Amino acid sequence: MKILVINAGSSSLKYQLIDMADQSVLAKGQCERIGIDGSLLKHTPAGKDTVKIEEAMPNHTKAITLVLDALCNKDHGVVSSLEEISAVGHRVVHGGEFFKSSVLIDDGVKEAIKACFDLAPLHNPANLIGIEACEEAMGSGVPQVAVFDTAFHQTMPDYAYMYGVPYDAYENYKVRRYGFHGTSHKYVANRVAEIMGKKVEDLKIVTAHLGNGSSIAAVDCGKSVDTSMGFTPLAGILMGTRSGDIDPAIITYLKDKYSMTAEEVINTLNKESGVYGVSGISSDFRDLMAAADSGNKRAQLALDMFIYQVKRYIGAYAAAMGGVDVIVFTAGIGENTKEIRFGSCEGLEFMGVKIDAVKNDMRGEEALISTDDSKVKVYVVPTNEELMIAMDTKAIVEG
Ligand code: AMP
Repeated sequence: MKILVINAGSSSLKYQLIDMADQSVLAKGQCERIGIDGSLLKHTPAGKDTVKIEEAMPNHTKAITLVLDALCNKDHGVVSSLEEISAVGHRVVHGGEFFKSSVLIDDGVKEAIKACFDLAPLHNPANLIGIEACEEAMGSGVPQVAVFDTAFHQTMPDYAYMYGVPYDAYENYKVRRYGFHGTSHKYVANRVAEIMGKKVEDLKIVTAHLGNGSSIAAVDCGKSVDTSMGFTPLAGILMGTRSGDIDPAIITYLKDKYSMTAEEVINTLNKESGVYGVSGISSDFRDLMAAADSGNKRAQLALDMFIYQVKRYIGAYAAAMGGVDVIVFTAGIGENTKEIRFGSCEGLEFMGVKIDAVKNDMRGEEALISTDDSKVKVYVVPTNEELMIAMDTKAIVEG
């Protein structure tokens, strides 16, 4: 079974065609500048050079049509006809409280995705456009599945997802913790169990998705029971440019001090904060580590804050689950930065976490990085959200 995975943004569209027989990526690519002058499709068939196709893409339907043409092209295509594509899996950012798992898309599902526009105004409208563009370009015969970033965290108990605000805000305006990166947390939790030869149902796992956006989750018996992102992806640990958790009173205080609107303050918290805002240098950990190595104190402070906050969540989630068997690091920073992994686990020996400095000296591959006598196992598992989307899509299509 070949599954097309789509991640549609407002002016971009990323895709992968995955052969589920061996979970290999047959081709991947992305459309850029949809609806803007200078549209470009970058298409990479497995093992071959990237082909750049410059053609006007006034809308997402045209973009999808070009992707499908590229996949079938006699020179750089990877299938002989569209009939080889059995289903499409779409990444959808917000499923609100409607979706606890992935679903086959029908009119009701599209309505519910629309009902969540308010909760994810930048993402859900684009995700829905991607779905409708695929329906138009491929016809109704090809099943389409929605895989939500929030769904995996819908198993959180109410005392973990509720905020201490008037209950009315929850009942009428759905103010609660949703959590994000669910597809990634689910993938690495299941994958680490597989690597360990255990059932995910028998493990207490802390999953640390540390990338440009970062979130940490407590996964008990395969279910998310808490996560650091909240109502929006602005919450939790400090990130590349996002502040993470702050005292909410800071918002009105800064609004007055800088003569900003509330929206401008939120924009600052999203785009000019985090390790970038603290260091004044970069949101990229490679730049920060280079600056800290050459003595930049604010770069060092940003790194120290990040490490401290990751460690604090690991401890908190061990407490939430009544223990922890495994810690998993994933995403750009988690997969590539041994200093962050080491620092986040340093001092946790009291709860049975011991990192092996030699095993930890690796990047970008699945690895056990704790010592043989570490009671808590620590792993690096590269995330693969596209494969997780394809796996869910296959499971749903096969009933
Ligand atoms: P992601 O959002 O998962 O793509 O992660 C992006 C972040 O990962 C970048 O901003 C970097 O901070 C970090 N990163 C990626 N590659 C490396 C690397 N080789 N060494 C250190 N940090 C890296």
